[in-house]
Amino acid sequence: MKIIFLGAPGAGKGTQASIIAARHSIPKLSTGDMLREAISSGSELGAQVEKIISAGNLVSDDIMIKIIADRISKMDCKQGFILDGFPRTIPQAEALEKILNDGRENVMTVLFLDVAEEKLIKRLSGRYSCKKCGKSYHKTLNSTKVDGICDDCGSSEFIYRSDDDEKAVRNRLRVYYQQTAPLISYYEQAGKLVRINGGDSIECITDAIELNLDRIFSNNNKIATESK
Ligand code: AMP
Repeated sequence: MKIIFLGAPGAGKGTQASIIAARHSIPKLSTGDMLREAISSGSELGAQVEKIISAGNLVSDDIMIKIIADRISKMDCKQGFILDGFPRTIPQAEALEKILNDGRENVMTVLFLDVAEEKLIKRLSGRYSCKKCGKSYHKTLNSTKVDGICDDCGSSEFIYRSDDDEKAVRNRLRVYYQQTAPLISYYEQAGKLVRINGGDSIECITDAIELNLDRIFSNNNKIATESK
């Protein structure tokens, strides 16, 4: 099972990718998390990308393709993986096809979480996550059950992303529409795109994703059996 989550910032890619990865026991590869880890560890890469990320711009294709090629080559990705935040440009998508040798075969399934722009802005301003376990929350839409305590791990430390401030959010959306949105028709034409209404509740979106995955992977298995 190799899945790409496609969608604007705030569409819910990270939340759904975590849920689906846990349910299917495959790793979630979040390029945003990888870059934030590089920044907090003080690595050379972190220093290189910090300003780009806080302004809401994209890190270069060369850097991102190398990061993802290295990560996908690890043993834990052999049975499948979920990509959250990659590809974000057409050159990244083309590079991924080469890495996976994904020509006419439908190696990847692309789940596009479709959300209206007003909703994206509302979701982005106000989100935070647990510093210890990474669980995502939102001030008004999905806060912790007990004020200030993570539902899953009990930690009281939370992270607010610097690129979720209003100026960076507007730039991230502009960059998304210019550079990432063309991937929707790119994958649609390749017959790999599944459109999911990302405006629903977290649970409804997960259910819609699972229904689609059942359909796609049972079809794929049928085709594989028939061609034996
Ligand atoms: P995310 O957590 O996916 O919203 O990513 C946070 C930031 O990391 C983005 O706004 C970009 O600056 C950078 N980033 C993450 N993934 C990519 C990518 N595939 N290509 C370029 N920049 C990326």
